[in-house]
Amino acid sequence: MAALEKAAENLLAAVRREAAEVRSESQGKEFRDRWMARKNGILTQVNDLWLKAAPKDAKRDVGQRVNEVKTQVEQTIVDALENKQKAASASSKDAERLDITLPGIRRPLGAEHPIIKTMNEMVGVFRNLGYSVEEGPEIETDYYNFEALNFPPNHPARDTQDTLFIANQESKPLRDRLLLRTHTSPVQIRTMEKMKPPVRVVCPGKVHRNDAPDATHSPIFHQIEGLAVDTNITFSDLKGTLDHAMKEMFGSSVKTRFYPSFFPFTEPSADVQISCIFCGGRGYRDGGPCRNCKASGWIELLGCGMVDPNVYGFVDYDPKKVSGFAFGMGVERIAILKYGVDDIQLFFNGDVRFLEQFA
Ligand SMILES: [Zn+2]
Repeated sequence: MAALEKAAENLLAAVRREAAEVRSESQGKEFRDRWMARKNGILTQVNDLWLKAAPKDAKRDVGQRVNEVKTQVEQTIVDALENKQKAASASSKDAERLDITLPGIRRPLGAEHPIIKTMNEMVGVFRNLGYSVEEGPEIETDYYNFEALNFPPNHPARDTQDTLFIANQESKPLRDRLLLRTHTSPVQIRTMEKMKPPVRVVCPGKVHRNDAPDATHSPIFHQIEGLAVDTNITFSDLKGTLDHAMKEMFGSSVKTRFYPSFFPFTEPSADVQISCIFCGGRGYRDGGPCRNCKASGWIELLGCGMVDPNVYGFVDYDPKKVSGFAFGMGVERIAILKYGVDDIQLFFNGDVRFLEQFA
């Protein structure tokens, strides 16, 4: 019996040692199987060996003692697994706990692109004058981009040097051929087709020219055009409208001047200059000639004119009854002046260091 007690002690010590080493769920399962598997677990083997080795008359006592030891071992195993589970769930709660003293994640705020910002400001000026906004497709037909705007068939602007045509359309009649619009003027035609006078619209949008990119040129840029058609609209309405718009954009001290120009879709046509916003129209600053206006005191900014009566013929307006004016300006040009940007490419490079200055 003393040998049995010694063996039982060793057995319990062994199971406690192993129980203390259980670290994970899979280790726990392995541990339980090793000891308690019905077929060849350690307990089953001990039970068989000890009972077999016992002398015949001691078998009853040995059996009783073996059962006691088995219960103790089983309890040790069950306790060990339970503790393991409690510890695991406690540590996962620790991991989920929110530490409100940690610094937050800083998410940089986005901002309007300077071109969109300038475009929206310009549109806002004309909205306040009662103009509505119209938009049109960037892929246009030759008809809307040129023909209906009174461009003669051999006008230089149709030259492939300036216009990006969609390839493989030689089989189509000229007026149906597709191109990337070179100005937003087709939107004016589309507007007059669906709307009877009075018309007051601005057409902001992206346009394309076959120009190599450099500091002052970009194959993609933006325009805002305006159109007003009604009875008795005169050139003085045009002058008053644009003078007001330039003062809204660049400040009330800015002066405007108009001088003759040519566009196929307006007659008469004019270019508009504003007094130089860098030198106040004086032509010199900081003791030298002003670079921005080349010492002239004036900066050329946009084109305009009275809508050519020929254009009304394309949209079923009666040129004897209505008159109107149109104007167009480059958004990049205005943004460059307004923000003192020296390279048009900066608007299209997507460099955050440049863009975030406008946030
Ligand atoms: Zn100047």
